[in-house]
Amino acid sequence: MLEVQGLTKVYTPKKGVPVRALDGVDLKFEETGMVFVLGKSGSGKSTLLNLIGGLDSVTEGDIVIKGKSSADFSQADFDSYRNTFIGFIFQEYNILTEFTVGKNIGLALELQGKKADKASIEEILAQVDLTGYAQRKPNELSGGQKQRVAIARALVKNPEIIMADEPTGALDSTTGKQVFETLQKLSKTKLVIIVSHDRDYAESFTATA
Ligand code: ADP
Ligand code: MG
Repeated sequence: MLEVQGLTKVYTPKKGVPVRALDGVDLKFEETGMVFVLGKSGSGKSTLLNLIGGLDSVTEGDIVIKGKSSADFSQADFDSYRNTFIGFIFQEYNILTEFTVGKNIGLALELQGKKADKASIEEILAQVDLTGYAQRKPNELSGGQKQRVAIARALVKNPEIIMADEPTGALDSTTGKQVFETLQKLSKTKLVIIVSHDRDYAESFTATA
Protein backbone atom coordinates (compact mmCIF):
# COMPACT_ATOMS: atom_id res chain seq x y z
CA MET A 1 0.00 0.00 0.00
CA LEU A 2 2.79 2.44 0.99
CA GLU A 3 6.37 2.31 -0.15
CA VAL A 4 9.26 4.79 -0.24
CA GLN A 5 12.22 4.52 -2.58
CA GLY A 6 15.44 6.49 -2.30
CA LEU A 7 13.71 9.06 -0.16
CA THR A 8 15.99 12.05 0.37
CA LYS A 9 15.38 15.35 2.08
CA VAL A 10 17.83 18.22 2.11
CA TYR A 11 16.82 21.30 4.08
CA THR A 12 18.37 24.51 2.81
CA PRO A 13 18.17 27.06 5.61
CA LYS A 14 18.39 30.76 4.73
CA LYS A 15 21.62 30.90 6.71
CA GLY A 16 24.17 28.15 7.22
CA VAL A 17 24.87 24.90 5.41
CA PRO A 18 22.26 22.56 3.89
CA VAL A 19 21.13 19.63 6.09
CA ARG A 20 20.73 16.18 4.53
CA ALA A 21 18.06 14.89 6.95
CA LEU A 22 17.23 11.75 4.91
CA ASP A 23 19.59 10.10 2.47
CA GLY A 24 18.09 7.46 0.21
CA VAL A 25 15.60 5.71 2.51
CA ASP A 26 13.86 2.58 1.17
CA LEU A 27 10.88 1.22 3.10
CA LYS A 28 7.87 -0.94 2.41
CA PHE A 29 4.89 -1.00 4.75
CA GLU A 30 2.22 -3.66 5.15
CA GLU A 31 -1.48 -2.78 4.90
CA THR A 32 -2.03 -2.94 8.65
CA GLY A 33 0.03 -3.29 11.79
CA MET A 34 2.06 -1.24 14.21
CA VAL A 35 5.43 0.03 12.97
CA PHE A 36 7.87 1.93 15.15
CA VAL A 37 10.45 4.33 13.74
CA LEU A 38 13.24 4.57 16.29
CA GLY A 39 16.28 6.80 16.35
CA LYS A 40 18.05 9.45 18.34
CA SER A 41 17.03 13.08 18.29
CA GLY A 42 17.87 14.77 14.99
CA SER A 43 18.14 11.50 13.05
CA GLY A 44 15.31 12.45 10.67
CA LYS A 45 12.28 10.66 12.18
CA SER A 46 9.91 13.63 11.98
CA THR A 47 11.22 14.45 8.51
CA LEU A 48 10.38 10.91 7.36
CA LEU A 49 6.87 11.12 8.80
CA ASN A 50 6.24 14.57 7.35
CA LEU A 51 7.30 13.45 3.88
CA ILE A 52 5.26 10.28 3.83
CA GLY A 53 2.34 12.18 5.32
CA GLY A 54 2.47 14.72 2.51
CA LEU A 55 3.20 17.60 4.89
CA ASP A 56 6.51 18.53 3.27
CA SER A 57 8.12 18.19 -0.14
CA VAL A 58 10.56 15.49 -1.20
CA THR A 59 14.03 16.49 -2.43
CA GLU A 60 14.71 13.22 -4.22
CA GLY A 61 13.14 9.79 -4.37
CA ASP A 62 9.64 8.53 -4.55
CA ILE A 63 6.63 7.73 -2.38
CA VAL A 64 4.37 5.06 -3.85
CA ILE A 65 0.81 4.98 -2.56
CA LYS A 66 -1.40 2.14 -3.72
CA GLY A 67 0.78 1.66 -6.77
CA LYS A 68 0.79 5.33 -7.74
CA SER A 69 3.98 7.36 -7.57
CA SER A 70 3.82 10.68 -5.77
CA ALA A 71 5.76 12.11 -8.72
CA ASP A 72 2.51 11.69 -10.66
CA PHE A 73 0.40 13.28 -7.90
CA SER A 74 -1.30 16.57 -8.63
CA GLN A 75 -1.78 19.10 -5.83
CA ALA A 76 -5.37 17.85 -5.56
CA ASP A 77 -4.14 14.25 -5.19
CA PHE A 78 -1.84 15.35 -2.36
CA ASP A 79 -4.63 17.28 -0.65
CA SER A 80 -6.97 14.32 -0.81
CA TYR A 81 -4.23 11.94 0.39
CA ARG A 82 -3.54 14.17 3.41
CA ASN A 83 -7.17 14.91 4.13
CA THR A 84 -8.72 11.48 3.84
CA PHE A 85 -6.00 8.84 3.92
CA ILE A 86 -3.74 9.92 6.77
CA GLY A 87 -4.49 10.74 10.38
CA PHE A 88 -1.75 12.65 12.15
CA ILE A 89 -1.06 12.56 15.90
CA PHE A 90 1.49 14.94 17.40
CA GLN A 91 3.20 15.13 20.77
CA GLU A 92 1.20 18.27 21.61
CA TYR A 93 -2.42 17.13 21.74
CA ASN A 94 -4.31 18.50 18.80
CA ILE A 95 -7.52 19.31 20.67
CA LEU A 96 -9.59 22.41 21.35
CA THR A 97 -9.25 23.09 25.08
CA GLU A 98 -12.30 25.36 25.36
CA PHE A 99 -14.71 22.68 24.12
CA THR A 100 -15.94 19.42 25.67
CA VAL A 101 -14.61 16.11 24.40
CA GLY A 102 -17.89 15.52 22.55
CA LYS A 103 -17.77 18.94 20.91
CA ASN A 104 -14.17 18.30 19.84
CA ILE A 105 -15.32 15.19 18.00
CA GLY A 106 -18.49 16.86 16.74
CA LEU A 107 -16.57 19.74 15.16
CA ALA A 108 -14.20 17.30 13.48
CA LEU A 109 -17.19 15.38 12.12
CA GLU A 110 -18.74 18.59 10.75
CA LEU A 111 -15.44 19.53 9.08
CA GLN A 112 -15.61 16.23 7.24
CA GLY A 113 -19.20 16.93 6.23
CA LYS A 114 -20.46 14.15 8.48
CA LYS A 115 -23.38 14.07 10.90
CA ALA A 116 -22.29 15.20 14.37
CA ASP A 117 -25.01 13.45 16.36
CA LYS A 118 -24.61 11.82 19.75
CA ALA A 119 -24.41 8.27 18.37
CA SER A 120 -21.66 9.16 15.87
CA ILE A 121 -19.66 10.91 18.58
CA GLU A 122 -20.04 7.99 21.00
CA GLU A 123 -19.01 5.54 18.30
CA ILE A 124 -15.75 7.42 17.70
CA LEU A 125 -15.09 7.75 21.45
CA ALA A 126 -15.60 4.01 21.91
CA GLN A 127 -12.79 3.35 19.44
CA VAL A 128 -10.32 5.09 21.78
CA ASP A 129 -11.84 3.66 24.98
CA LEU A 130 -13.38 6.97 26.07
CA THR A 131 -17.01 5.90 26.22
CA GLY A 132 -18.93 8.24 28.52
CA TYR A 133 -16.39 11.10 28.36
CA ALA A 134 -18.30 13.32 25.92
CA GLN A 135 -19.26 15.89 28.58
CA ARG A 136 -15.77 16.30 30.02
CA LYS A 137 -13.62 19.32 29.33
CA PRO A 138 -9.98 18.67 28.31
CA ASN A 139 -8.70 20.13 31.60
CA GLU A 140 -10.58 17.32 33.39
CA LEU A 141 -8.59 14.63 31.55
CA SER A 142 -5.22 12.99 32.06
CA GLY A 143 -2.55 13.55 29.42
CA GLY A 144 -3.15 10.09 28.02
CA GLN A 145 -6.89 10.72 27.77
CA LYS A 146 -6.23 14.04 25.99
CA GLN A 147 -4.02 12.25 23.52
CA ARG A 148 -6.77 9.68 22.94
CA VAL A 149 -9.20 12.54 22.20
CA ALA A 150 -6.66 13.72 19.62
CA ILE A 151 -6.57 10.19 18.17
CA ALA A 152 -10.38 10.19 18.10
CA ARG A 153 -10.34 13.45 16.14
CA ALA A 154 -7.96 11.88 13.64
CA LEU A 155 -10.22 8.81 13.37
CA VAL A 156 -13.17 10.90 12.25
CA LYS A 157 -11.96 10.79 8.65
CA ASN A 158 -11.52 7.02 8.92
CA PRO A 159 -7.92 7.15 7.67
CA GLU A 160 -6.17 4.02 6.41
CA ILE A 161 -2.91 5.18 7.96
CA ILE A 162 -2.27 6.78 11.34
CA MET A 163 1.04 8.56 11.82
CA ALA A 164 2.07 9.53 15.32
CA ASP A 165 5.15 11.64 16.02
CA GLU A 166 6.31 10.99 19.62
CA PRO A 167 2.68 10.62 20.79
CA THR A 168 3.72 9.80 24.34
CA GLY A 169 6.59 12.28 24.54
CA ALA A 170 4.73 14.40 27.11
CA LEU A 171 3.24 11.49 29.09
CA ASP A 172 4.28 9.41 32.07
CA SER A 173 4.66 5.69 31.50
CA THR A 174 1.18 4.66 32.73
CA THR A 175 -0.82 7.08 30.59
CA GLY A 176 1.65 6.55 27.74
CA LYS A 177 0.92 2.85 27.87
CA GLN A 178 -2.83 3.50 27.45
CA VAL A 179 -2.12 5.54 24.33
CA PHE A 180 0.02 2.74 22.89
CA GLU A 181 -2.70 0.19 23.74
CA THR A 182 -5.26 2.25 21.85
CA LEU A 183 -2.92 2.60 18.86
CA GLN A 184 -2.19 -1.11 18.99
CA LYS A 185 -5.91 -1.90 18.86
CA LEU A 186 -6.35 0.42 15.86
CA SER A 187 -3.42 -1.26 14.11
CA LYS A 188 -5.52 -4.40 13.68
CA THR A 189 -7.36 -2.63 10.84
CA LYS A 190 -5.04 0.26 9.98
CA LEU A 191 -1.38 0.91 9.38
CA VAL A 192 -0.07 2.75 12.45
CA ILE A 193 3.38 4.32 12.12
CA ILE A 194 4.80 5.62 15.39
CA VAL A 195 7.92 7.70 15.81
CA SER A 196 9.45 7.18 19.22
CA HIS A 197 12.78 7.43 20.95
CA ASP A 198 11.72 4.77 23.46
CA ARG A 199 13.10 1.45 22.24
CA ASP A 200 11.92 -0.52 25.31
CA TYR A 201 8.33 0.51 24.74
CA ALA A 202 8.51 -0.21 21.05
CA GLU A 203 9.90 -3.68 21.65
CA SER A 204 7.33 -4.56 24.30
CA PHE A 205 4.48 -3.50 21.99
CA THR A 206 5.65 -5.04 18.75
CA ALA A 207 6.35 -8.28 20.61
CA THR A 208 2.68 -8.61 21.55
CA ALA A 209 1.09 -6.98 18.48
P1 ADP B 1 14.04 13.83 14.64
O1 ADP B 1 12.57 13.92 14.49
O2 ADP B 1 14.57 12.43 14.47
O3 ADP B 1 14.52 14.41 15.94
P2 ADP B 1 14.13 15.73 12.45
O4 ADP B 1 13.53 15.00 11.30
O5 ADP B 1 13.28 16.72 13.15
O6 ADP B 1 14.74 14.66 13.47
O7 ADP B 1 15.44 16.50 11.94
C1 ADP B 1 16.46 15.86 11.18
C2 ADP B 1 17.56 16.88 10.85
O8 ADP B 1 17.03 17.87 9.96
C3 ADP B 1 18.10 17.62 12.06
O9 ADP B 1 19.47 17.84 11.85
C4 ADP B 1 17.32 18.93 12.04
O10 ADP B 1 18.06 19.96 12.62
C5 ADP B 1 17.16 19.17 10.55
N1 ADP B 1 15.92 19.92 10.24
C6 ADP B 1 14.65 19.55 10.52
N2 ADP B 1 13.77 20.46 10.06
C7 ADP B 1 14.52 21.45 9.48
C8 ADP B 1 14.21 22.67 8.79
N3 ADP B 1 12.95 23.07 8.62
N4 ADP B 1 15.25 23.41 8.33
C9 ADP B 1 16.52 22.99 8.48
N5 ADP B 1 16.89 21.86 9.11
C10 ADP B 1 15.91 21.08 9.59
MG1 MG C 1 11.10 14.64 15.75
